[in-house]
Amino acid sequence: MTPSGSGPDLPPPPAPVEDDIDAEVRDDLNRWQSEGIEFVGRDGPRLFPATRREAVDRRDHFIAHRLPFYGAREETIRATDPWVFHSGLSTSFNLGLLHPLEAVRPAEAAYRAGSAPLSSVEGFVCGILGWRDYIWHLYWYLEAGSPAGRRPRGTPTVPPWFTRLDADAVRARCLSDTLAQVRDRGWVHHAQRLMVLANYALHRGWRPSEMVDWFHRSFVDGFEWAMVGNVVGMTPYADPGTMTTKPYAAGGAHLDKVSDYCTGCRYDFTKRRGPDACPFTAGYWAFLDRARERLHGNVRMTRALRQLDRIPDLPDVVAQERERGQTPP
Ligand code: SF4
Repeated sequence: MTPSGSGPDLPPPPAPVEDDIDAEVRDDLNRWQSEGIEFVGRDGPRLFPATRREAVDRRDHFIAHRLPFYGAREETIRATDPWVFHSGLSTSFNLGLLHPLEAVRPAEAAYRAGSAPLSSVEGFVCGILGWRDYIWHLYWYLEAGSPAGRRPRGTPTVPPWFTRLDADAVRARCLSDTLAQVRDRGWVHHAQRLMVLANYALHRGWRPSEMVDWFHRSFVDGFEWAMVGNVVGMTPYADPGTMTTKPYAAGGAHLDKVSDYCTGCRYDFTKRRGPDACPFTAGYWAFLDRARERLHGNVRMTRALRQLDRIPDLPDVVAQERERGQTPP
C-alpha cells in the first residue's frame, strides 16, 4: 500500500461514444422523470461500456496502463482521479459484455510478457476469479435476497442527505467528494465504498439492509447479488461473521494513509474531540465503544479494544458523536 493517494498520473480510460440508443434511453428517462418517477444522481455523458467493442477497449486500456500499478496501489484513493488503478470493468461483466476470463487471461499474458508484476496480476485475478465468484456463490448459498443484516428496532436509518447524495451538505472532504462522485458517475472504486461510505455507515450504526438498498439503487454495478455479501457481510459484520472475521472499520488515520483527502479537509484526522475532530476518527472510537461487548473475545479486535481502553476522554468522544447523530459531518 502506498501513502496518501500517491502513484503515477495515468491517462483516463477511453470514453464511450454515445449513439441513437443512448439518446432514446435519455428521452425515456426524461419522460419518466416528468411523469413523477424519482431518480438518484445527475445525468451526464455515459461513462461505462454498453457495447462489446467498448468493453474490450476498456479492458485493453486497463491492461496496458493501470494493471502494472494495481497490486501496490489498489487501496489508493485520489480526489482528482476517480479511476486511479481500477479497471472499471464490473459493469461489463455484469451486463455480459465481457466474460471474466476475458480479463483474467490477458492479465496473465501481461505477466508472462513481463509488462505487469506478479503482485498486480495476482491481485486482479483474485478479485475476479476469487472474490467476485465467492460473493456470487455466497449469495445463493445463504439464500438469495434473505433479509440479512436487519438490525433491531431503534437502529438508525440512513439519513436523507446520504440517500439523496447531497454532497454539498457535507464538509468532511472524503465523504463529500465520494458522495459527489456517486451522484455524478454512479460509481466509485472499492476502497471508497469500503473505507468511506460503508465505514461511515458502520460508525453511525445505520441499518445494513438499507445500505444494501442504497448501493443497489445508486451504483451502476450495484446488482443485488453483489451488494448483499459486500455490504452486509464485509464492513458491518452483520451476517454475523459468516463471511468475515471482523468488521471492516477504520478511523481517519487510515484514510490519511491511503488517500489525499485529509490534506485540505476542515477536520483534523489526528483529533477525536472538539470542533476540528475528524468524524471518522471520533466515529471509529464511538463505534468500538458501542460494539465492545459484541467484539469481546474476537482475537482480531483485541488490539483495537485495548487501545480503546487507553483513551482517557472516551466518554466525551462518545457524547460528542451521539450529539453529531445523523447530521451531515
Ligand atoms: S480529516 Fe477525517 S473527515 Fe477529513 S478527509 Fe480525513 S478522514 Fe475524512
